[in-house]
Amino acid sequence: MLILRGGLVADPRTGTEQVADVAVSDGSVVAVGSVPDDPSAEVIDVTGLVVGPGFIDLHSHVHSIAGQRLQAMDGVTTTLDLEAGLLPIELAYARAAADGRVLHYGFSASWGDARAVAHLGMAPEADLEASLSMLGDPAWQRTSSAAERHAWLELLESELAAGALGIGVLMGYAPRSDPAEFLDVARLAASTGTATFTHVREIVEADPTTPVDGAEEITRAAAETGARMHHCHVNSTSRRHVDRVLGLLDGSRSAGSDVTVEAYPYGAGSTAIGAFFLAPERLGAWGLVPSSITMVSTGERIASLARLTELRATDPGAVCVVLFLDEDSPADNAMLQRALAFPDAIVASDAMRVEWPGGVVDTREWPLPPGGQTHPRTAGTYARSLRRMVRETGAWTWSEAFRRCAYLPAQVLAPFTPAMRTKGYLAPGADADLVVLSPDQITDRATYLDPTRPSTGVVHLLVDGTFVVRDGALDTTAYPGRPVRR
Ligand SMILES: [Zn+2]
Repeated sequence: MLILRGGLVADPRTGTEQVADVAVSDGSVVAVGSVPDDPSAEVIDVTGLVVGPGFIDLHSHVHSIAGQRLQAMDGVTTTLDLEAGLLPIELAYARAAADGRVLHYGFSASWGDARAVAHLGMAPEADLEASLSMLGDPAWQRTSSAAERHAWLELLESELAAGALGIGVLMGYAPRSDPAEFLDVARLAASTGTATFTHVREIVEADPTTPVDGAEEITRAAAETGARMHHCHVNSTSRRHVDRVLGLLDGSRSAGSDVTVEAYPYGAGSTAIGAFFLAPERLGAWGLVPSSITMVSTGERIASLARLTELRATDPGAVCVVLFLDEDSPADNAMLQRALAFPDAIVASDAMRVEWPGGVVDTREWPLPPGGQTHPRTAGTYARSLRRMVRETGAWTWSEAFRRCAYLPAQVLAPFTPAMRTKGYLAPGADADLVVLSPDQITDRATYLDPTRPSTGVVHLLVDGTFVVRDGALDTTAYPGRPVRR
């Protein structure tokens, strides 16, 4: 048995914070309160620290040990790729298990890959990078024929049957496709009792010719089909129109639809350079210029429209960082704050893989070798959210922070994922996925220029009762991560 003695224990399920001991045994929390000494127990004094359920990231494209370790230092215990998903799901889970995982992991069924099978005859191998390259292909972006739609719906259904955690829908990358396709996806989610996780289509402010406003598409489909629908990174797809989009989601929730939303605390996004919305003729709609875009692997800041066109043609899957809100502008910063503070908005990172020169994308070395490139949200989303929303602005209490980072994300999946029913809260019977953090020191350190600096202030991190971080140091022998499946 392990006893964490005397910390401030935050349980987001009940909204309580109390100084208490937490006892852990066999991967579960067995007691919270005043736990007597036990000669066979290991006791760790956590006085002055905050103890809560480990963070559950619904949106992590990190499929590597290196990336998971950065997320562990940020307080995360479960990383799920639900927006993009992977296909085939069996291969995705088998590969992660064979490699070993530091944190719990899981994937949704990939609508994008299923379309690639139906449109392009591709045979995806659960490789997100290959998927990113095809997103710029007009033959992938176009509306499916009836036969193609039937084929990819069937494929998605078999992936769900194989344990995929809902359906990941990269609609924003095929924004001219027939809205009837999205309704079919929603119907499949409803009939299987699962959920959709959507990167929405362009919103009307950015593209008045869009077949349907991206945010309205979600609320309409949720109302019409009754499906659970999750709106990914509302900050990056809404940009300066976030108030309109949040108002729409609010109305939809009040009307009884099962719509959830997530945000991350950065003013820049990250995606493949070949994405539809980065086409030279589309930049103006978002108030972007070529120099708003920086290539991740080379650090190149794009100098001209001609260079942008060239990069999109030669390497459409290459990852870039796109500045869409100016964090130094009070008005833009306030907009970001409103997205994070929106009632029940979930914190999710959209963590991207770490890439070193020469195409290296994973390592068991720790500390990470220098020169790794990614978006800083990979390493810093949670510590940055806590610093900003709890410490600096007082917008959230600790239990509210754990509700946004652990309890609410678990609740999105719990109706169709038994493994999530014992995660996201802190009481006897909960899984021993725990974070112990310093309330004064928790902070992100990753920057756009140095994005792999781990967060500080996570003192201990337990995954399934095993220490991944202890006394602030990562245990490089720990691989306790387990699959989370439907
Ligand atoms: Zn996205």
